[in-house]
Amino acid sequence: MRPARMTRGRVGEGVPGSQDCPSIGTVGLMREGLTLEEAQKLILEATPTLGAETISASDAAGRVLVDPIVSMRRHPPADCSAMDGYAVRCEDLLGTSAERPRKLPVVFEVPAGGHAARALEAGETARIFTGAPLPPGADAVVKQEDTDMGVERVEMRVEPALREHVRDGGEDFEIGDRLIEPGTILGASHLGVLASVGRTVVSVHQRPQVAILSGGDELVEPDRPADQGQIVSSNSYTLAAQCREIGALPIYLGIAEDRPEAIEKRLRAGLGADALVSSAGVSVGDHDHVREVLEKVGCQLRFWGVLMKPGYPLAFGIIEPTGQLVFGLPGNPVSTAVTFEQFVRPALRKMMGHRALHRPVIQAQLGDSIRKRAGRLHFVRVSLEKTSSGIVATPAGNQSSGVLTSMIRGQGLAVIPLEVESLEAGAEVDVQILDLAFFDREERGF
Ligand code: AMP
Ligand code: MG
Repeated sequence: MRPARMTRGRVGEGVPGSQDCPSIGTVGLMREGLTLEEAQKLILEATPTLGAETISASDAAGRVLVDPIVSMRRHPPADCSAMDGYAVRCEDLLGTSAERPRKLPVVFEVPAGGHAARALEAGETARIFTGAPLPPGADAVVKQEDTDMGVERVEMRVEPALREHVRDGGEDFEIGDRLIEPGTILGASHLGVLASVGRTVVSVHQRPQVAILSGGDELVEPDRPADQGQIVSSNSYTLAAQCREIGALPIYLGIAEDRPEAIEKRLRAGLGADALVSSAGVSVGDHDHVREVLEKVGCQLRFWGVLMKPGYPLAFGIIEPTGQLVFGLPGNPVSTAVTFEQFVRPALRKMMGHRALHRPVIQAQLGDSIRKRAGRLHFVRVSLEKTSSGIVATPAGNQSSGVLTSMIRGQGLAVIPLEVESLEAGAEVDVQILDLAFFDREERGF
């Protein structure tokens, strides 16, 4: 079934039901004017988790594991020494101390990587080094600092406890132990464990390819001179970086002019990807042709318009039969970045096997009052500061959806619910943390 075409005019900043924003409704398969949660739910329901690929374990940091890691090895493989010292039999050193030292003959040496020549007999000791296997018969290690480090005979100055300074064979893992569960995000320690079980390759969820299209006759690439009527295209750079930040693979389709043929040509180049993200042009302005081209290439639009600011004019669809997700993001740079965060990022993370799909949220106190109209959820760019009374979130200047620099002044997005009309300074708000590097910065005190 072909999707219903949009018939309504471009939506401004009004609220549903007002003159500049016609009523919420459903046209065929496609719905309009969804809440943030409804839109996210629809998107995530349509988003598959990608299959597995086998990659080198050393490249697997940040990837999500598909198969459980079951150990084929035992670690340590045998009881071994945790210290440089002397392997002993505890019963030979009962009552030994610095005041009452005891001398034992050093009958052999076990180097790291070697093994004992024979068992330790009563009254004997063996030189041993960290990681070397404990000789049969020995039941403790006296560390060399507690001896005179003698070569032929050694003076012992302590009474060791049973199995002191001995690492038990298999204390880390035994053969058959299930060490890492599917769905785990592999970090540095996981890679170390993979190495210690001898895994050089690992099965992880694939990374989605994301085709990124910019559109508009006014746009020029950053390395080109821009005259007064032109705007340097920044969205694809933001979007590509947002993809890379989570490990997705951006494919840049370039800038399409506002002509259906130009859009179609570029858009077709992105049809093999897992997701297509276009910024600008998925509304109903005279020159906005992206939607008509999308429908031509088999995209069923599922919804258009989300009750949020910035970012109302957002479209989502699916290209059949491939199931490729299509996100038509609004063109204003802040709207593009914010809608990617709310809709594209969670979907891409789901594709990569992540279970935590959304940005971390903290509670903060507003540093300034906020007024808005009810009917849309607002994302307010805020700068964060840790104070003695908690974390304070202060709106980061001009909140126009064209002012991208407000995104670098703020570290998070305060979420002001749809129905709220005003909040006073000091009110508690949820803040999505966008800039995790912020926590590394000393001056903020986090
Ligand atoms: P549109 O959705 O085409 O009406 O675009 C809304 C606004 O976003 C316009 O001011 C565009 O110039 C601007 N815009 C669209 N695409 C980009 C882009 N790739 N980079 C920067 N600004 C853009
Ligand atoms: Mg445009």
